[in-house]
Amino acid sequence: MLPEYRQLNLELPGLVEQRRPIKKPRSPRRRKRLAKTVELLGLFEVVPPPDPVKRAQIAQERGLKIDVGLTAQARELVEAMGLDELAEQLQVYWNPRLITTAGLAHHSTSRIDLNSRLIDFPPDEPGRTLRHELAHLVAHYRAAGRGIQPHGPEWREACAALGIPGEQRCHDLPLARRSVRRKFAYQCRNCGIIVPRVRKLSRHSACYPCCRTHNRGRYSKRFLLDPLPLEEAKKLAPEHSWA
Ligand SMILES: [Zn+2]
Ligand SMILES: [Zn+2]
Repeated sequence: MLPEYRQLNLELPGLVEQRRPIKKPRSPRRRKRLAKTVELLGLFEVVPPPDPVKRAQIAQERGLKIDVGLTAQARELVEAMGLDELAEQLQVYWNPRLITTAGLAHHSTSRIDLNSRLIDFPPDEPGRTLRHELAHLVAHYRAAGRGIQPHGPEWREACAALGIPGEQRCHDLPLARRSVRRKFAYQCRNCGIIVPRVRKLSRHSACYPCCRTHNRGRYSKRFLLDPLPLEEAKKLAPEHSWA
């Protein structure tokens, strides 16, 4: 026989607590333990999914390729300005997922991303975009936490110091028009690379990759781009969108 008060309690409405199980998110440690257990049981191979922050990072870094030469070039430029600490952290990457953006500067990691298609715009690109983005990092570094305008006086000053005075805040490269038809083709007389162009190039245009590799990025007649018949270019480089 139960004591009287228990019986009373049970009969009074509203006194019985409704207990709903509260779902707790699994802690990373528990998730790992669970994965380990399943693995030990030999059910299937379990790879614990990366956490959301890591996943975003993986997605963001997909396809990125570091450019050792441009990284060294960028570091040299910044060292010459006396910013050794920034120079040490600098890294320059090619990012094939940039569409209309020519370049990006990541302040938190001192990383510069360049649009992989800048290679189609010799001979000033991608050196100019590299300097543009570098100026963002320099201005931010010098500001040391002080809020500044992205393309304000500090950035313009850095641009001048990096050899691109009067740089515009926006690029005028036809990157946005992805399906633009290239009517002119050129070929480097040194490396044989095919360069598609919408408009005719001057007779003095040289291959940027070659100038960079063999001539410290400076122009040289040895790497002139010669006009190539369109039909031949289509056969040699079908990946470009030709007219
Ligand atoms: Zn900018
Ligand atoms: Zn070349």
